Order: sequence, then structure tokens, then C-alpha cells
Amino acid sequence: MKVIFHPRFYEVYTSDPAAAPGRMEPMVKALENEYEFLEPGPASDRDLERVHGKSHVQSIKREPQVYEVGILAAGGAILAAETAYESQPAFGLIRPPGHHASPHSCWGFCYFNNIAIAIKKLLTEDKIKGALILDFDLHFGDGTSNTFDGLLSISYFHPEGNRREGFLEQVKRSFQTEKPYDIIAISAGFDRHEEDWGGLLKTEDYFTIGKWAKEASLERCQGRRFGVLEGGYNHSVLGRNVKSFLQGLSD
Ligand SMILES: [Zn+2]
Repeated sequence: MKVIFHPRFYEVYTSDPAAAPGRMEPMVKALENEYEFLEPGPASDRDLERVHGKSHVQSIKREPQVYEVGILAAGGAILAAETAYESQPAFGLIRPPGHHASPHSCWGFCYFNNIAIAIKKLLTEDKIKGALILDFDLHFGDGTSNTFDGLLSISYFHPEGNRREGFLEQVKRSFQTEKPYDIIAISAGFDRHEEDWGGLLKTEDYFTIGKWAKEASLERCQGRRFGVLEGGYNHSVLGRNVKSFLQGLSD
């Protein structure tokens, strides 16, 4: 298991909860002694434009710091996906998040759709034909859903509900889809935790979700699996939640 991280993700690139000071530090601290860290390079315009229109990319460039950190986050998702494709599972410990970024617009603390950019790159390079994207963030990833709308080879799942057991049951079922997939990509938002905005999941549930993803990937797609960080805003529990998820997801 590799963790993809860049020191620029510490930067407070704007004023929203995803960019808040002190958000990344507890996660780095929880993971740095457990896993090897890799530093990503920036995504290229070509990478971004597999998902986003040129005018959207231009509009983000007008905020230089957001743009610079944003292309490192997208580059981080690409590196996580390539690592998962080639050798071993990976997690993109990245920000800004991406799942509310659509081809021509964005909101909800997102600018570029990191996970979609990574999947599109593998698709374009004919490395994969299909993918399963599980998004367990509290919020529906409208950007990811819009990006792959009508593309039958990509399954996007966003379990919902106010009951823990029912939520986990939906997560489990999503991996059992009949549609074939060549990689599992996870939009890992920790804002559904009992001590975060969603008030539902326990820390151990992230281990369970990670373990199910690992088992499904071994059964269905040669063990290829990666995650990227989306939401999660209670700094005092983020470290243990992300650690729990990675313990389940890793070998
Ligand atoms: Zn969220």
C-alpha cells in the first residue's frame, strides 16, 4: 500500500472546510509510520481536459494557488490509480477534493474531479475497459456521476440512508454488481462518521468497507484498488478514520 501525498496539500489555498488549516496533519501523522509515501507531479492540461472543458480549466487558472494545488491533487489521483493498476493498492491523501467537479462547473470545495481524471486516463490508455467507483462520502458526487453519465462501462455507486446497517449493506452490494470492472476506485469521504457532519458510521466501519473493497478486487479485478480523499471535516477523528480504512484496504 502506497500513500500519495504532496507537502503543498498542507497549504490553506482558500477559505472552506476542505482547505482548513490543520486538516491534513493528523492524517499524515496517522499514516506516515505505516506506509511508504510517494509524491505526485501535477496533472497536465491534457489530463484535466479528458474530463473538463477548456473554459473550466481556464477559470480555475485565474486563482493561481487553487490551480497549483488542484493539479497536484489530480496528479495524486492519477498516481494512485497507476500504482493500483501496475503493482499495489494506493491511497491519494489529497486536497482539494473532486467529486463535486463536473465537466463544465464545480462547487462544494471541489475544482477538478480527481478520481474521474484518473479513471479517464486509464480508459484512454486502454489499460482498463471498465471501473467500479464507490463513493462513501456523505454527499452525492454529482461531478463524478455527470462525468460518466451514459458511459456504461463505469459503475458509480453512492450509498445513502440514515441507518448504519442499511448503509453498509448497500456498500457491500455495490461490489457485487454484475457489470464487469477492471479496477475499484473509491471516493473516500469521512464526513459520514458519527463525530462528523453525517453522524452515522463508526471508525471500524471504514476498516470493513476497505476490507470488502480488497476482497472484491481480488475476486474480480486482479486486486486493483485505490482510494482518494474527498470530505471529512472533524480533524480530531480524521486520522483514525483514514487509518482504519487503509488497514482494511491494504494486503
Ligand atoms: Zn462530503
